[in-house]
Amino acid sequence: MSEVLAKPAVLILLGPPGAGKGTQARMLEEDFGLVQLSTGDLLRAAVATATEAGKQAKAVMEAGQLVSDSIVLAILKDRMAAPDVAKGVILDGFPRTDGQAAALDALLGAAGQSVTAAISLQVDDEAMIGRVSGRYTCAGCGEGYHDEFKQPAQAGVCNKCGGTAMKRRADDNAETVRERLKAYHAQTAPLIAYYEGKGVLHRIDAMKQIAQIRSALGVIVSRVLA
Ligand code: AMP
Repeated sequence: MSEVLAKPAVLILLGPPGAGKGTQARMLEEDFGLVQLSTGDLLRAAVATATEAGKQAKAVMEAGQLVSDSIVLAILKDRMAAPDVAKGVILDGFPRTDGQAAALDALLGAAGQSVTAAISLQVDDEAMIGRVSGRYTCAGCGEGYHDEFKQPAQAGVCNKCGGTAMKRRADDNAETVRERLKAYHAQTAPLIAYYEGKGVLHRIDAMKQIAQIRSALGVIVSRVLA
């Protein structure tokens, strides 16, 4: 008897900067053994290592605008080809445009797959400016913190890995966040209707506490993975 292998899940987290996509994606990795795939992280790594794509993306990212679909898609396809992705992925910050959503459908379709669920993290824009402006991460393990909402147990020491080097993103300032919010509403928010039309959209209230959002997401993800 031939065994039918389950197709890897493809979950999308949609939401403006500061909605908590990265934080929740990392928790979903822990809770469900999925792999977080953040195009923002991949692009920042490309900028840090000054690859050709990174050199082209740097100024666009610092201005809070969207990097071209061609650069983002090349980086994403590369990452999607890695073996760990077979467990299933949480796309964090991708797709962000109609073109990216169509390219993702084509990429998955070619492998007989489709988007399992798109989850829209719903928040108030004004609160996002405060959330993003105060955030920082551990340079060692990437755990996220916030000046006001999530401080490490011991000041300056990462709860997760004990590291003491913390970093802030160049684009996490109020002025750039406003640009990023504009880009989100103009180019990314229409994808909510796109995935609704495909019958895979879920919405959650992401103004709640991190733990409450985690459990609301857990309910949805358990259901779609069942
Ligand atoms: P993020 O870490 O998701 O907040 O992304 C940081 C920045 O990287 C964004 O403001 C964009 O400049 C760029 N970026 C990340 N993902 C994408 C994407 N899917 N399409 C275009 N630009 C992106």
